Amino acid sequence: LFVTDTNRQCSCENKLARTQGPGTLNINKPVHIHQGYMQWLWDTDGRRYLDLFAGVATVSVGHCHPKVTAAAEKQLRRLWHTTSIYMYPTVHEYTDKLAALLPDPLKVVYLVNSGSEANDLAMLMARVHTGNFDIITLRGSYHGGSPLATGLTSNSAYKFPVASGFGCHNTMCPDVFRGPWGGRHCRDSPVQTVRNCSCSQDHCQANEMYIDQLKEMFATTVPNRIAAFFGEPIQGVGGAVQYPKNFLKETYKLVRERGGLCIADEVQTGFGRTGSHFWGFQGHGVLPDMVTMAKGIANGFPMAAVVTTQEIARSFAKGVHFNTFGGNPVACAIASSVLDTIKEDGSQHISANIGTYLLHELAKLREKYEIVGDVRGKGLMIGVEMVKNKASQEPLPPQDLGEIFEDTKDMGVLIGKGGLYGQTFRIKPPMCITKADADFFLAVFNRALQNYMERRLKP
Ligand code: PMP
Repeated sequence: LFVTDTNRQCSCENKLARTQGPGTLNINKPVHIHQGYMQWLWDTDGRRYLDLFAGVATVSVGHCHPKVTAAAEKQLRRLWHTTSIYMYPTVHEYTDKLAALLPDPLKVVYLVNSGSEANDLAMLMARVHTGNFDIITLRGSYHGGSPLATGLTSNSAYKFPVASGFGCHNTMCPDVFRGPWGGRHCRDSPVQTVRNCSCSQDHCQANEMYIDQLKEMFATTVPNRIAAFFGEPIQGVGGAVQYPKNFLKETYKLVRERGGLCIADEVQTGFGRTGSHFWGFQGHGVLPDMVTMAKGIANGFPMAAVVTTQEIARSFAKGVHFNTFGGNPVACAIASSVLDTIKEDGSQHISANIGTYLLHELAKLREKYEIVGDVRGKGLMIGVEMVKNKASQEPLPPQDLGEIFEDTKDMGVLIGKGGLYGQTFRIKPPMCITKADADFFLAVFNRALQNYMERRLKP
């Protein structure tokens, strides 16, 4: 994610610290982080920042959370590594604990080290189990950067001109704000879109149009039998894009009719982040055949998992799946304590409460500023899409967005960016923030928007 941008001038001493990419900091004066504690980060000059990006929704319960740090320290003194050749209680206790949080029949856990690796494994398992090859994802999605997972990813910023993604097809993302069809009532969010719509209560026209696109894809570009559909419950890197209600439900049905498995990528949305549910897919009323997870699973320690059914695991057992570091004792001890902490700290509850508060308050800024096009999300998975003006909905140019971003950072708050055109601010803090933090951010963001507007109005 963090690569050197050789085109950009940088005033810092360490040139390698410059960053680039639509979802990353991409700032003129990069922050050199020295230390973190819960929702706070300190730079090398001792400046404190409220971290509302949490390493892209990765720090789930707080930087260096004392309980998680204690669990890591304890395990580091006892045993670092076993590989799956030997049994080790910490690993088995953890997989039991994780499986207990998933509905039946999702009870078989595979442990790996990153989200890309989890999605690679899920792709392989789906192909082995179904005997089919083709895989469907949504445009705008990010599912990883490994050679296999880049095929799932459908965002040109993360694509390279090399042969990749055989058998991967991307259908239209049902984005009810930026896409051609949308409406006020489509998505499951505490705040509504600003677009008009003619849907009735139980009939969503936008959903129908996007499902038609998927059907057309089935008719034209893929064989009758497919291996899988991958979907994030809310698109993360895509800019907190939410789909119309029932879109995933109907997609799952169409995919299963063609022999495919349905895979929920919960790398960003899992572990209580959406507030109303522990897993994002639960908010869509669907039951996937596989769930992939990473990031928040271990509060930023490298760890990821695929959870699936006995039946799929049995098909996969025809070969050997081996992973040297996957599920090492340190990662499992940390991830186990993350699950305890989410429960004890009421993190999911915080996500629901503070997230809903932020969404309502940000919606007021949408009313106040012409450049705030859309406010959306669930829990602490929030997107604020910036536009040139509400009528055209043209994305605010990256340079302009960057100004607001820098100003927010200079006033002590770190947020993220995303969306296909880098036009959406992303807010996904550690799930330990308070109402006072939310108010601080709202005041800072309001000031940054105001500053931007004043600069533009200057003769
Ligand atoms: N899936 C999603 C939804 C993601 O957001 C990401 C990372 N941004 C990945 C998969 C890949 O995870 P990793 O960077 O750990 O490989």
